[in-house]
Amino acid sequence: MKPGSGVTIVEVGPRDGLQNLTTQVKTEDKVRLIEWLAASGLREIQIGAFVNPGAIPQFRDIKEVAACVRDLPGVTLTALVPNLRGAQTAFESGIRKLIFFFSISRSHNLINVQQTTAASLETLASIMKIFSTHPDTTICAALATVFGCPFEGFFPTDAILRYVEAVADMGITEVTLCDTVGFGNPGQVEEITRACMEKFPEVTFGVHLHNTRGLGLANALKAYETGIRIFDAAVGGLGGCPFAPGASGNIATEDIVFMFNQMGVETGVHLEKLLDATQYLQDILPDMPLTSALFHAGLPKRIDGNGFPRLKERP
Ligand code: ZN
Repeated sequence: MKPGSGVTIVEVGPRDGLQNLTTQVKTEDKVRLIEWLAASGLREIQIGAFVNPGAIPQFRDIKEVAACVRDLPGVTLTALVPNLRGAQTAFESGIRKLIFFFSISRSHNLINVQQTTAASLETLASIMKIFSTHPDTTICAALATVFGCPFEGFFPTDAILRYVEAVADMGITEVTLCDTVGFGNPGQVEEITRACMEKFPEVTFGVHLHNTRGLGLANALKAYETGIRIFDAAVGGLGGCPFAPGASGNIATEDIVFMFNQMGVETGVHLEKLLDATQYLQDILPDMPLTSALFHAGLPKRIDGNGFPRLKERP
């Protein structure tokens, strides 16, 4: 049976969108951006990563950002954590949905978090031991390079399933399958997401897709048709992994929300308000070319400037 038709769009712009920038965004600008995004109706926002500031200086103020936004009503704040220390700091900062990330590619994991994939799994086990006893805290896993790795190429579906099994055995019930460098295609997305959902019905899967090679929305639509209901996206289409050569923008939140809204799939996001958030992002990063198609084209309007009703809302 397929899950309901509505989708959750997880806004990862404040994390994936900003982590690759050489410009240090001011703390108050990050806070204001997150507030704009929340005002558009986005109900899950990834505010950053609790990592060594030497590795990713953009997140050296993550505790201050968390302190400013932790009481945003109706919004679940998440953050990436690569290790126990990061998980502890995130928890102390009021984050109650921690995303433990590791790469199924040994080579990428060594560069990204300086440990083997096996060591990352041991770290996750120790995080689970401590935090799974907190009733209001959720630990999720994000598996990087599932759809291909710039160092190791593509992985057989069986190998991917083994990593999902490893985290599911620890009690993880939400897993994000990440196309870290935009190697994925719709056929592969269908095969991998279907295999995961069939083998682990107790796990909720989301996808994190990059539009590096122009297939972001095609992959997202295929994932939706296969039954996925959680999609990461980044405001403006920013994004990229500093430790994966060739990684570029995420699916733009505006574009995926536009696609689903026009299809009549509930996202809960108000597009005009979301475009205000994008404009704010452009204002704080005036030299950054944003790849969101909707941001540049605007919402469909009649020649006289009035909006068209959506097809299904016509009398
Ligand atoms: Zn990413």
